[in-house]
Amino acid sequence: KLYNQIQDLRGNIRVYCRVRPFHPGKVSSSSSVSGIEDRNITVMVPSKYGKDARKSFTFNRVFGPLATQEEVFTDMQPLVRSVLDGFNVCIFAYGQTGSGKTFTMSGPKVLTEEGLGVNYRALNDLFSIQEQRKDTICYEIAVQMMEIYNEQVRDLLQNETLEIRNNSQKGLAVPDANVVPVTTTSDVIDLMNLGQKNRAVCSTAMNDRSSRSHSCLTVHVQGRDLTSGTVLRGCMHLVDLAGSERVDKSEVVGDRLKEAQHINKSLAALGDVIAALAQKSTHVPYRNSKLTQLLQDSLGGQAKTLMFIHIAPEPDAVSESISTLKFAERVA
Ligand code: ADP
Ligand code: MG
Repeated sequence: KLYNQIQDLRGNIRVYCRVRPFHPGKVSSSSSVSGIEDRNITVMVPSKYGKDARKSFTFNRVFGPLATQEEVFTDMQPLVRSVLDGFNVCIFAYGQTGSGKTFTMSGPKVLTEEGLGVNYRALNDLFSIQEQRKDTICYEIAVQMMEIYNEQVRDLLQNETLEIRNNSQKGLAVPDANVVPVTTTSDVIDLMNLGQKNRAVCSTAMNDRSSRSHSCLTVHVQGRDLTSGTVLRGCMHLVDLAGSERVDKSEVVGDRLKEAQHINKSLAALGDVIAALAQKSTHVPYRNSKLTQLLQDSLGGQAKTLMFIHIAPEPDAVSESISTLKFAERVA
C-alpha cells in the first residue's frame, strides 16, 4: 500500500442526511422535521385520523439547517482523500427537487466563497494534498462531466452522446468521453461553467432539465511514487441525481411521463445496487440502468459509496421526505 495515512473506518457504504433551512421570507412555524441529532432525524408524519406519528431514522451523519458547507465537507474529507490512495469513490446527492442537492454539490445559484459546494472543495483539497506530497508522489488529476437524461449519456464538455462500454481497452466505461487535466481551481471552475452551459442549452425556461437528469463530475487521479515508480489510480464520481419526487401519472403525458419513468427506473436501480452491496448479496443488478452501468467499476468491491440524502423541511414535503428516508434506510 502506497499511502494509507488517511483512515476512514466508516465502511464502504455510508449514508448522510441534510435538512435544508426554510427559504428566506418563507419561514414556517411548523417543520416536518421535529428532531435532529448527530446521527438521528425524526419527522412528524401527519395523520388524518388521531395523533400525528413520529418516525426516527439513523444514518452515519445528519446535518441540520445550520450546517455550513465547510462543516459538511470536513466530514467528507477522508472519503474524498481516499481517491489519492487508489480507491474509487461515488458520492450521490439524492432527494426531491428543491431539497438542496445542487446546493450541497455545487453551491447556491450565486456562488460565494463560503457557498462553495463539495465539488469545488473536493478538487481544492486534492490540489492541496498534491502540493504537499509533491516530493514523494507525482499526482495527475483530470475531470470529466457527464449527464444522463432519458437513459442516454451525454458528455457535457463536448456536448456529445456517449456509449457505455464496460471492459473497454482504456478501462473506462465511456472511452470516448473528454477527460481534461486540471491543475488549479480556476481550471475546474471554467470546466464546470462550460458543462453547465452545455447542459442549459437543452433546457427551456419552462423546463429546467437539471432536475430531471443526473449530472456526474468524475475526477480521475493517478499517483506515481517517485522512489518506487509504483502507480496508483483512483476515481471519484460526484453525482447530482435527478429529483426523486413521484410524478402523478394521471397528470403528466408524453415526454414528461417518459422522463419520469426513466428517472424512477434509474433511481430504483441505484437503490437496488447499493442495497445488494450493503447486504453483501452475490448478485448485484448493475445492468438495469445507464447510471449503474456507468458507475459499475466504482460501486462495490473496494470502492466507497456515500449516499447523501436531502430533506426539505416544509410540512407539505413530508411524504417525499419519508420516501427519501426510506430509500436511504434500505441502503444504510
Ligand atoms: P435541488 O438541487 O435538490 O433541486 P437546490 O440545491 O437547487 O435543490 O436548492 C433549492 C433552493 O434552496 C436553492 O435556492 C438553494 O440555494 C437553497 N438551499 C438548498 N440548501 C440550502 C442550504 N443548506 N442552505 C441555504 N440554502 C439552501
Ligand atoms: Mg438541482
